[in-house]
Order: sequence, then structure tokens, then C-alpha cells
Amino acid sequence: GSPEGRKMMQFRKSLPAYNEKNAILTAVSENQVVIISGETGCGKTTQIPQFILESEIDTAHGASCSIICTQPRRISAISVSERVATERGEQLGESVGYKVRLEGIKGRETRLLFCTTGILLRRLLVDRSLKGISHVIVDEIHERGMNEDFLLIVLKDLLSRRPEMRLVLMSATLDAELFSCYFNKAPVLCIPGFTYPVQTRFLENILEMTGYRLTPYNQIDDYGQERAWRVSKQGPKRRKSQIASAVEDALRTADFREYRKETQDSLTCWNPDCIGFNLIEHLLSFICENERPGAILVFMTGWDDINSLKEKLLAHTILGDPTRVLLLTCHGSMASSEQRLIFDVAPDGVRKIVLATNIAETSITINDVVFVIDCGKAKETSYDALNNTPCLLPSWISKVSAQQRRGRAGRVQPGECYHLYPRCVYNAFAEYQLPEILRTPLQSLCLQIKSLKLGSISEFLSRALQSPELLAVQKAIEYLKIIGALDQNEELTVLGQYLTMLPVEPKLGKMLVLGAILNCLDPILTVVSGLSVRDPFLMPIDKKDLAEASKSQFSRDYSDHMALVRAFEGWKYAEKEFAGYDYCWRNFLSVQSMKAIDSLRKEFYSLLRDTGLVDSNANTCNGWSHEEHLIRAVICYGLYPGVCSVVHNDKSFSLKTMEDGQVLLYSNSVNARDSRIPYPWLVFNEKVKVNAVFLRDSTAVSDSTLLLFGGSIMKGDVDGHLKMLGGYLEFFM
Ligand code: ADP
Ligand code: MG
Repeated sequence: GSPEGRKMMQFRKSLPAYNEKNAILTAVSENQVVIISGETGCGKTTQIPQFILESEIDTAHGASCSIICTQPRRISAISVSERVATERGEQLGESVGYKVRLEGIKGRETRLLFCTTGILLRRLLVDRSLKGISHVIVDEIHERGMNEDFLLIVLKDLLSRRPEMRLVLMSATLDAELFSCYFNKAPVLCIPGFTYPVQTRFLENILEMTGYRLTPYNQIDDYGQERAWRVSKQGPKRRKSQIASAVEDALRTADFREYRKETQDSLTCWNPDCIGFNLIEHLLSFICENERPGAILVFMTGWDDINSLKEKLLAHTILGDPTRVLLLTCHGSMASSEQRLIFDVAPDGVRKIVLATNIAETSITINDVVFVIDCGKAKETSYDALNNTPCLLPSWISKVSAQQRRGRAGRVQPGECYHLYPRCVYNAFAEYQLPEILRTPLQSLCLQIKSLKLGSISEFLSRALQSPELLAVQKAIEYLKIIGALDQNEELTVLGQYLTMLPVEPKLGKMLVLGAILNCLDPILTVVSGLSVRDPFLMPIDKKDLAEASKSQFSRDYSDHMALVRAFEGWKYAEKEFAGYDYCWRNFLSVQSMKAIDSLRKEFYSLLRDTGLVDSNANTCNGWSHEEHLIRAVICYGLYPGVCSVVHNDKSFSLKTMEDGQVLLYSNSVNARDSRIPYPWLVFNEKVKVNAVFLRDSTAVSDSTLLLFGGSIMKGDVDGHLKMLGGYLEFFM
């Protein structure tokens, strides 16, 4: 081959996976299921699919082999396929391709396809036995995402029907035993890893080293952070509070006597519930000034704290100076082309700093990283049993995750890792993260089981690697019946079939479907997108009154959702000038949220076109109606049974739900500012239990709207619905 080709081959041979090539190929040919574990970066994702491809081509099975390799995220599916094509000296679409939602490159000769887990599940929907697929490789199984656990049940079934098909499971950590048992004692191959030594520093060491002093005040330096902190306190999740209390115990009994007095004082001020932006800034400038060259990777929890930190750093004299620092970000809601910038190498003398979520933990490798800063948290979807909805909250990571993060530092030369929490807190972490299937609501999963015609939901889920509690399954089925997605026999209704085509929460899917049917899609796209991003209405604590007043000027109709629609439309109008920054600043709105809503709207719209509910030739949102009652009805249709009654007293009103009795509104709701609401009901998006139950984002609706558009009326169950509403009315009369 060419000089580049030879160089690339040399590089591939230097990877630890290459030494195991023969052992891997032998195991795969002799066993239907093989489990492979090995440190991040050892070559699992890029090499093992290629080994299989090359050996199939060599053994003349080439023409008939077809390998699918799933990735938990879009960015890894795309970037890995690019990398593998490059290694083979090809263009994408020759032997290697990829497919993710709404995007893909694949040619007639493509034998190795990287795709997201969701794509493979969709393929199973139309092709139950994966005809023509010779190998399925499921990557990053240690993450235990809902889709991956689901896929494994389906594949386990399929293997007995397709004895010649091969399944390879790959994991970055050594939790392989569980999978081996699940697949009938399948062999486990471990690729010995190589990383350079990484010097580990915990908070106490960082404070000693940099002389930085924590005060109770300097940690809460961002109102967004303060809000995240308040929310995280309220989590009803059993496991989280278990870890949180383990952390508190660890702190109570910790002994820091060997450290300097200032360090000890600082540690008593440390607040485990917030991320110290000032500390991070201080540490970053310390590294930039005192340490050797090398990129810095900072693990944050999500795009909101990444953006807040970025803004803070840009205001810093050194860190914000583009001639000295290349500041990049990487999180799941960025476009993949933007995410890819993190692989860029900084010019000589410029320090690269990447602020990333845990997507940089295992699936992607940023090669030039020497320093890692780990905030110790990640956003985890958790199941809010109270209102049966998923919520994304920052929570402590597991020991395995912390080790993975540390491992990102030793790839190119000896590295350094800074954990922003004391060692005793690390010791209190759980060994592994709880699998998603055990901590999130199962509604979407139940719909998927039905659409794949996999039989009884509870029987199917009892065959999972780790089965969810029966109660959680029953709650999900009950919810799907109430919203009209399943009928009394647990079969999909017409609505249910549409919802399985829309990869969003059922309540959002319902709004999209009805919005399309009633031709008022444009505002509904904004509502649905708005519910999927961080609250665009900012509430700085020191300007709370102003911010609340500002939000209420967008409201004329007792609806937080419609206030959002107006705010967004104002921004679209103002966007032509400086991306609408000025408009957002004046109105206490987040520009990032507005941009995210804008791009989500397009994504949701094209999903709807795939369902056939909107004209597939139309390029723009065709439902322009802004008829207020229609929008209200669609919102009600989606949010039901999230409903409470409005009871007026002399000068004010109180709110009640059937399950909780009295409930309250967050003060930033437009409905909290009125003393009268001329409607008998509020439908709401989310309930949060603190000391009382609070409702977030509500819209007032009339009796007839609730009667006609709440719940299951659309499938014609008028009687059942009247009965339910009757029960509700009786309860409050
Ligand atoms: P694993 O899946 O075991 O974590 P990968 O197969 O993703 O490992 O990566 C193996 C090695 O290939 C990495 O350590 C890195 O050196 C190199 N590599 C992977 N992706 C890229 C890329 N996009 N650009 C340059 N090098 C890459
Ligand atoms: Mg990998």
C-alpha cells in the first residue's frame, strides 16, 4: 500500500487489541456469543469489527458477510465509522458506513455498518430475524442503557432462530461476568490494557497544592447552578439518596488532620451539592501557568453547566484569551460536526481545554489529553415515581466511571487527574451505576415491546438481564392505557402506533400527533421542544421579581407553555440581530435554550414527516394556526392525566390533585401571579415533591377541553372517559 497506508497499519498493530486478533477471531468462529472487555482506547471499537470484516473477506464469505456494530450515541457511530474508513484508506460508503436517526452513509458494497442502538431496534421492527446480518456487535454494554438492555433480550431470542449468526458484546470495564451468565456462560476475552501512570489528586490535595480557599459563599456563584442544586435535593429516588447519605456520612467521619489548617477549614465549607466554578477556574489557570503542556479535559454534568462555565472562562484574562487557550465544548445536544472540533489539535503554545459531559468518558478518545478534571457528577435519567416521568438530574458517578475519567489522562504520556471531591467521598461511591431499566419509567419501552409484537410486556421484561420491579411495569402499562396508547387488552391503539414511531416521551408524542392533525403544529413544535430543553426563562435570584414580571408579559392566557411560544416567536423575530442576544438579555431568556428549541423543532418536524402525519413534500412547518383554544386543547391532550382542579376562595385560589390533595405552583409560573384563574383546571407538565408538591409549567383549561381532549377520548372511549372525569368531579365537589 501507500506510505500512509503502511503507517496506518503500523499504528493499528501497535494497539493492544491487535495482539489478541487471532484469539478473538477463533472465539467468534467457535462461539455464538463472545464478550470482550478492555480499557478504553485499546482498540475494541475501531479494530474488532475490522478484524471480523477482514477475516470474512479473506475466507471468501466476504460477499455474504454483513456486520452491524451498535453505539449508544450518534457521535460515536459517526466518528467511529469515519475513523475506520480512514484506517482502511477508503471513503465512507465503501466497505464501511453509518446510520443514525435522520442521517446515514451506506453503499452497495458496505459490509460494516455502525449505527445507534435505536436504529437496530427499528430495523428489528420490520425484519424480525435480521435477514442477511452475519454479525451483530453491541458496543459499550457496560453503560447499561435502556435500549441496550432491551436489545439484548431481543437478540437472545433471535440467536436460537439464527444459529449461524454471531453476537459480540464489548465493554470498557470488567463487569463481563453478568453478561456471560446471561448468555449461557459465553466466553469472556480480556484485552490487557496499557495506560501511562496517572497521578491522582482529590480535593484535599488540590487545596494543598494550589492554596485555594473554599468559602460557603464562593461555591454558589451561578444561579443556574443554585437551581440545579435545589432540584437535586428533591430527588425521590431511593438509590440516589442512599449515595448522598453515604457521602454525608463519609464527610462527617473524615479525618483531614494531616492537612494544613486552611485546607481543613476549606473542606468544612465544601458543599457536595454544587460544582465550584470558581475552583475549576482557579485550577485551570493554575495548570496553564505551572504545568507542562498538554490538553485539559474537564468533565461536567450537562450542557447548562458547560455553557455557564464557558462564559465564566471567556471573561478570564488568560483562559479567555484565544491566543493562549483553545476552549472547546462537547455535549450530547451539539451537532456532530460541532462535537468533532474536540479532536482538533491546538497550535504550538496554545493550551486546549475541552469541557465535556460523560460522552467523553468511554465512547470517544481525545488523544492529546494529559490533564483531567472530574467534577464527580453526571446527569442521569432517573425515574420520578411521583409523576411517572423521567427527569435528568446531576448525581454522583460510580467508582468505575471515576476510574474511566481518570484513564482519559494517561493516553499519550503520564497524566494527572484532579477529582473535585475528597477521597472519602470517592470511597462512598457505588461500584457500578444502576442500569437505566431499573431507574427510569418504562412507558416508551413498553410501547416498543408492543410494536415489535413481543407478547406480554411483563413476561418479556422478566427475561431481562436485570428485570425491573413488577410494580414499575404495571404503572407504565396503566399510564399507557390512561393516555389511550394501549387498549384494555394491552394492545397498541392507533395512537399507540403513531407514538412508537416518535422517539420522544409519549406525552410529547401525543402533542405532536394532535398538533399535526389539528393543523396547529407550529406553536406545538415550540411547546414540545421547550419541554425538552432547559427552562429558557432564567430566574436569577437577585432579580427574581424582575424576571418573573418579564415572563408574565408573554402571558395573556394563563399558560406557561403559551408564554414560551410567544417568547420564542419574539426571539425568532429578533434573531436577525446578533442572534437575539439583546432580546434575550432584556427578557431574561437563555439564548442557548432558544437555539436548542430552534433546532429541535426542525428535528421533531422531520420525525413527523416520517410518520406521514404531515405532508412529506412540505419543507416548512405547515400548521400555522395560532388559535389559542386549539393549542390549549393539544397541550391538554398531551399532559393529561397531569391535571389539578382550581378552587377559588375569597381573594385567591388553591389547587388540588386527586393523589396529593393540596399542591402549589412554582413562583415563576405565570399562573402564580394571578389571584384568579378563570378556568376550573390546570394541566401541568411535572410535579416535584420538596416539602410540599410543586407543579412546574401549567396551562389552564376549561371543563369541555378537559372532557374532550384529556386522556383516551381520541380512541373513542367516551364512556370510560366520562366515568373518570366524573370520579374526579365527585372527588372535589
Ligand atoms: P476502544 O473502543 O477500545 O476504547 P478505539 O477503538 O475507539 O478504542 O480506539 C483505539 C485507538 O485508536 C485510540 O486509542 C486512538 O489512539 C485511536 N483512535 C480512535 N479514534 C480515532 C480518531 N478519530 N482519530 C485518531 N485516532 C483515533
Ligand atoms: Mg470503544
